[in-house]
Amino acid sequence: MPTIFAKIVRGEIPSDLVYQDEQVTAFRDISPVAPTHILIVPNKVIPTANDLTADDEQLVGHMVLVAKQIAEQEGIAANGYRLIINCNEHGGQVVFHLHMHLVGGQPLGPMILKRGS
Ligand code: 5GP
Repeated sequence: MPTIFAKIVRGEIPSDLVYQDEQVTAFRDISPVAPTHILIVPNKVIPTANDLTADDEQLVGHMVLVAKQIAEQEGIAANGYRLIINCNEHGGQVVFHLHMHLVGGQPLGPMILKRGS
């Protein structure tokens, strides 16, 4: 079954597209947690970070560089931002098509919950 993100990559369902090239697609999260919340996804389906192989090394590096470029375009680079890849249940992953969250536009607070909270 294609994921919702695979359909967005192929333009089969609408999205607020920010960037696309032959390797990755970036679009605004439908439920943003901050003023800027953009998802950078590989065009090919890789379900989770656990499924990455050495062959994907360049692709993952490209995802980070695209995130950096988008952060500059969004005007959030100087103040800073956060890049997040959630993996599986404990990581809170809900869409099983690898994606990197680019989140910023406000102070983001602590990186993770404190133990026990
Ligand atoms: P995850 O928890 O898997 O790392 O994050 C999935 C993200 O995808 C969530 O932040 C969620 O709001 C976003 N999302 C889920 N469905 C859609 C959709 O159809 N369109 C867009 N633009 N974002 C989506």
